Amino acid sequence: MTAPPVGRFAPSPSGPMHLGNLFAYLLAWLSVRSRGGKIVLRMENLDPQRTSRAYGEQIMRDLEFLGLDWDQGPYWQSERSGYYQQCLDALTAQGLVYPCFCSRAELHAANAPHASDGDCVYSGKCRSLTPREAQALAKNRSPALRLRATGWAGFTDGHYGPLEQDLERDCGDFILRRSDGVFAYQLAVAADDGAMGVTEVVRGRDLLGSTPRQLYLYRLLGLRPPAFVHIPLLLAGAGPGEPPRRLSKRDQDAGLDVLRGRFSAEEILGRLAYLAGQLPKPEAATARELAGAFQWSKVPLEDILLPEELFTPPGT
Ligand SMILES: [Zn+2]
Repeated sequence: MTAPPVGRFAPSPSGPMHLGNLFAYLLAWLSVRSRGGKIVLRMENLDPQRTSRAYGEQIMRDLEFLGLDWDQGPYWQSERSGYYQQCLDALTAQGLVYPCFCSRAELHAANAPHASDGDCVYSGKCRSLTPREAQALAKNRSPALRLRATGWAGFTDGHYGPLEQDLERDCGDFILRRSDGVFAYQLAVAADDGAMGVTEVVRGRDLLGSTPRQLYLYRLLGLRPPAFVHIPLLLAGAGPGEPPRRLSKRDQDAGLDVLRGRFSAEEILGRLAYLAGQLPKPEAATARELAGAFQWSKVPLEDILLPEELFTPPGT
């Protein structure tokens, strides 16, 4: 018998929650709860410039309003620097970490190939700096720390199937700690999912291409990787002639702060479950009701254009 899964919500509290975030949390919750599993809540607030505790508190109130409960946490990444430093030290001890003094402009120099998530593939420029050269450069600029990435990393996504990357060619040496001292997303997410016993990660398809990097970190840190299930993105219709784009916090009508004034929790969940292929019509439903009939096979593969009328209040 397999143990019940442990899933997670990992919001970045950089603004009010919007439907795109909620779509991912709903599927993560349904997938785990439909099999009797547990949920960990972790606030990804490493970047003090972009995130705030107040947004984190608001996200928790929104999740409670919707009935998407959790069993462990909230953990705040801002309070876990000591642990990330230990992980960084473990990678350094393997001889895989080096300082990078490149400026933003140098990194975005013309013709740099791009990894699947839009980051530039790093040229490796600082990889062979001698300790003495690095020391001299460090007098003028504090470096970022990069991880040497080599070999292949692959996995089978629960929704999109197999994906394999040549780490050197497809993503390049990646940053573990930024020059301002903030730990990078890749390090924190792998270290935390490993430490928190997460066995299933459900998240947007935009992060599919960064998964091999995280698997590489799991391997180096001796952590057991979770299963990954990526999901289609919710897209907002744009103006005439413009392609639809990913829903974001700029879409104020899709913010939970606005929607809570217009719809009940069950109406919001039912509409999202309809978009996820779980209901034949956008009828109101509780999270528990939806978990009872949840099926991954009904979730579409293609990104989903949010029908404008679906979240427009009646009579407007
Ligand atoms: Zn560099």
